[in-house]
Amino acid sequence: MSETAIAAPKGLYLETFGCQMNVSDSEKIVSLLSDLGYRPVTDPALADLILLNTCSVRAKAESKVYDYLGRHRLRKLKNSRLIIGVGGCVAQQEGERLLKRVPYLDLVFGTHSLHLLPELVRGAERGERRSATEFIDTETRLNLFPQAADTGGITRFVTIMQGCDNFCSYCVVPYVRGREISRRSAEILGEIREMAGRGAREITLLGQNVNSYGLKSPDELHFADLLREIAAMDDIQRLRFTTSHPRDISPELIACFAELPKLCGHIHLPAQSGSDAILERMNRGYGREEYLATVTSLRKARPGLAVTGDIIIGFPGESEADFEATLSLLEEVRYADLFSFVYSERPETAAAGYSGQLSRGVKQQRLERLQRRQHEITGEICEALVGTVQRVLIEGVSRRGDQLTGRSDANRIVNVPGDASLIGQLVDVTICQSHPNSLLGELSREG
Ligand code: SF4
Repeated sequence: MSETAIAAPKGLYLETFGCQMNVSDSEKIVSLLSDLGYRPVTDPALADLILLNTCSVRAKAESKVYDYLGRHRLRKLKNSRLIIGVGGCVAQQEGERLLKRVPYLDLVFGTHSLHLLPELVRGAERGERRSATEFIDTETRLNLFPQAADTGGITRFVTIMQGCDNFCSYCVVPYVRGREISRRSAEILGEIREMAGRGAREITLLGQNVNSYGLKSPDELHFADLLREIAAMDDIQRLRFTTSHPRDISPELIACFAELPKLCGHIHLPAQSGSDAILERMNRGYGREEYLATVTSLRKARPGLAVTGDIIIGFPGESEADFEATLSLLEEVRYADLFSFVYSERPETAAAGYSGQLSRGVKQQRLERLQRRQHEITGEICEALVGTVQRVLIEGVSRRGDQLTGRSDANRIVNVPGDASLIGQLVDVTICQSHPNSLLGELSREG
């Protein structure tokens, strides 16, 4: 009688920092490493491989990586077979330096090296320490575009482009993600059809600047055409995208908000500042009035459109008057939500050499003023939803386990009592209560 030895699965503990692009890359990492026998675990104590997928957009995110590595040092001392690796934007920026600085680190993989990860892990299993952070050429990048893992799910993210050509003066993305490339539309549409076949009902298109999709490729669809193709798929009921650059919002894209009911009534449109002088120093390529005109056109196309945004506080040279201009932008736009951060200097970027750096105290005080006002605006917007009927795509069971949870068209979390058979369906919900991070409702009779 012969026996076949079946290798026990190995544990993969993966921590993801930063944006949705990293979350999407992490899905791909799980899928790539499953071929080597690694299965995700939620407790690092059970891991044979610990990976950090990192973000370097803000200094705070970067220093977190070193804190996290420090926490895993003891594990490595106790278990020399444990493999520890770092990927993503910090890995791209630091490369070999990370291996030198952190002696218990085994591997480093940059933003263009995801495909090399299985090889690096196999090497680490043999005791090798390696870093892979070379940028690859456009054709190879196109052929290796990360596809989403085969996980099923009602809401799915699809990467349609990578990198950025905008070189905003504070941003490290063009240096760590490389120049902008658009994935082939045939591949994107094929992937979405497959996802729809496995139950996906809502698709979010991802990229650093999705609305410039296809502009560099003469034979490719433009972004508005891509949206129209996806909206025409029967099984896809909702469509979202992020992130948009205000300068690249075309009239064709605005028309999509009027013409495609499946395109959700929400756009994330980072302004970064409400002051023309600061926008100029940021190299954003638009002024305050252009930004506001774009918001007006979008809301004309889709009345009630929810706008969310990003604001950087304390950019070098920001005067009190510049800050007041940003505060007044909140009043004019009435953001549904706002992601606001204090400026943090990033190496390699133009703004790192700018004069007029502000003290931490001034930045923090302005941030708190801005966040206080936005908190009030968000509360007012949510309160006004009480008594209205919202269309909600039910995604699953709420965290507490006693309700269903989903998102409104405007991307608000809505919890509602109901039967699990509604998961995956669009239902009408009457909003009864507004909470800081969610709404509570009940199924409308006609829902
Ligand atoms: S548009 Fe500007 S902020 Fe956004 S990724 Fe590109 S360079 Fe960075």
